[in-house]
Amino acid sequence: MTQPDQGDIIDGVHYHQHDIVIVGAGGAGMRAAIEAGPSASTAVISKLYPTRSHTGAAQGGMAAALANVEEDNWEWHTYDTVKGGDYLVDQDAAEILAKEAIDAVIDLENMGLPFNRTPEGRIDQRRFGGHTREHGKAPVRRACYAADRTGHMILQTLYQNCVKHGINFFNEFYVLDLLMSEVDGIERPAGVVAYELATGDLHVFQGKSIIFATGGFGKIFKTTSNAHTLTGDGVGIVWRKGLPLEDMEFFQFHPTGLAGLGILLSEAARGEGAILRNADGERFMERYAPTIKDLAPRDIVARSMATEIREGRGAGPYKDYVYLDITHLEPAVIDAKLPDITEFARTYLGVEPYTEPVPVLPTAHYAMGGIPTTNNAEVLRSNTETVPGLFAAGECACVSVHGSNRLGTNSLLDINVFGKRAGNNAVAYAKTADWVPLPEDPTAGVRRLLDHVRGGDGSERIAVIRRELQEAMDRNAQVFRTDESLREVGDLIKTLRDRYRNVQVQDKGKRFNTDLLEAVELGFLLDLAEVVVYSARNRKESRGAHMREDYPKRDDKNLMVHTMAYLTGDAESAEADDHIKLDWKPVVVTNYQPTERKY
Ligand SMILES: Cc1cc2nc3c(=O)[nH]c(=O)nc-3n(C[C@H](O)[C@H](O)[C@H](O)COP(=O)(O)OP(=O)(O)OC[C@H]3O[C@@H](n4cnc5c(N)ncnc54)[C@H](O)[C@@H]3O)c2cc1C
Repeated sequence: MTQPDQGDIIDGVHYHQHDIVIVGAGGAGMRAAIEAGPSASTAVISKLYPTRSHTGAAQGGMAAALANVEEDNWEWHTYDTVKGGDYLVDQDAAEILAKEAIDAVIDLENMGLPFNRTPEGRIDQRRFGGHTREHGKAPVRRACYAADRTGHMILQTLYQNCVKHGINFFNEFYVLDLLMSEVDGIERPAGVVAYELATGDLHVFQGKSIIFATGGFGKIFKTTSNAHTLTGDGVGIVWRKGLPLEDMEFFQFHPTGLAGLGILLSEAARGEGAILRNADGERFMERYAPTIKDLAPRDIVARSMATEIREGRGAGPYKDYVYLDITHLEPAVIDAKLPDITEFARTYLGVEPYTEPVPVLPTAHYAMGGIPTTNNAEVLRSNTETVPGLFAAGECACVSVHGSNRLGTNSLLDINVFGKRAGNNAVAYAKTADWVPLPEDPTAGVRRLLDHVRGGDGSERIAVIRRELQEAMDRNAQVFRTDESLREVGDLIKTLRDRYRNVQVQDKGKRFNTDLLEAVELGFLLDLAEVVVYSARNRKESRGAHMREDYPKRDDKNLMVHTMAYLTGDAESAEADDHIKLDWKPVVVTNYQPTERKY
């Protein structure tokens, strides 16, 4: 096609050109923008207003071995990350994460982030699960924090600095497609297509470097700490382009969601001394992790809680939850360090945490898997080849620094370290690259997608299909899994994909048509849930967050490898076997050979 210029409107489609196009205005996207903005024309496209991104809901802290309050160093942090991830972590990436953590915190401090302080005025640090000194000897204070609203402070600080750098924001724009064109025999990203919520208009953003920073997809589950908007659009878009997804079977269940609701009570509570108790008041984690007890990694704590409940020691009328007890902490400490989460317990459960234990249950929290990248945030198209000009960072990406189980406070760290790397590498690439020509009729794919969700016979409701998916994922693909439970949910997803073809979009209008976009988001949820379940069935071992009761042991000999899932063949086919192909990718090991994971 004739290449349009910046600002053109052709057949109602708006055309934009920026050296760097970033999809997502959470922590990862904005950290990338702060690097890119001063050296290249940068656009950030976000379906949410930036400060509403989920990073703002993060509570507990951001890890860095600053050693401000106790002896610590980056090597211990690396070791904890590798062991916490049950040896599926790429160890070279974990070294980068732990080493660059120190600068990542100092960068934020220099940008104006109000961290909690020690009496001497240094950045204070608190304990968090799986973070230890001397390779597992005892918990260490490694998490930097701003009360229990660390993510909120990070997001506000990054946004203010983006505004300072004059970054171009396109808010409430939903990116629905990635445009690829072949140049010199290689498929390269040319830009993205976005749907503007306010008007229903389509926009094409041409970029030399494209960064995906679209966050997670916890909404494949019903009980989740994730916001309604975490539907994995970016991961789904990349998947539909035939690019691989890595380690999708590994989804983290955070131990302390409010029972029945999933709203998160940060691990910071246990970092400050909270204790998990069963119906008998017993501190049961002493039996499962004698050294670090309640501060064991999340996979171990979540499984221990589920085991207590299964074995009849759950609390409440149905014996179906356990307690988080902070009644022994001073109210002044609670108010200073855990103000928000204690308020959640009062508001949503009517429980007074000063005097009563809080009912809690594991809640779907974090996607360890996602778009595979190199340590420079370049997206991989195979185990070794990258897609030139395409980058990903944050929860949508899989570097892999979290392996099969992320440690608490390592994600706010990940988005800062790899967001920054994505921004820098995107600029370096854009400086030497030419524009990739847009494909013929660039919005054709999005128009087809929208026609597809509007075109069914209208017999199916979006909310009904979504609920059935989420409930089945909770039932069959949560803390414990078997081949049978995964087959059951896999079969259901097949029928839901069929029924999805006939969803009813009630709103036929153009302006603020959230109904239409929820239908599109449901398509991404179905695709991603299918990859999660298919990858989980294929992994016949138990590792980190993936607990197969029919294969309860970790199998390092055969399965210390990443899963790589590819969309192949007929994407519309109902049978996952017909359109998902799985492969393995080696884990990078530098210093740490796998050992039995004791805490
Ligand atoms: C309740 C809660 C508490 C947490 N606490 C902690 C903690 O204490 N410490 C820690 O390390 N981690 C914590 N985490 C995890 C951590 O907050 C997240 O993993 C991290 O913030 C993700 O950042 P991100 O930038 O990748 O994505 P997000 O912050 O989720 O941002 C995603 C962005 O992508 C945009 N987007 C998505 N789809 C589209 C689309 N189709 N088009 C355009 N834009 C799109 C959104 O608008 C948004 O701006 C917590 C998570 C939750 C849910």
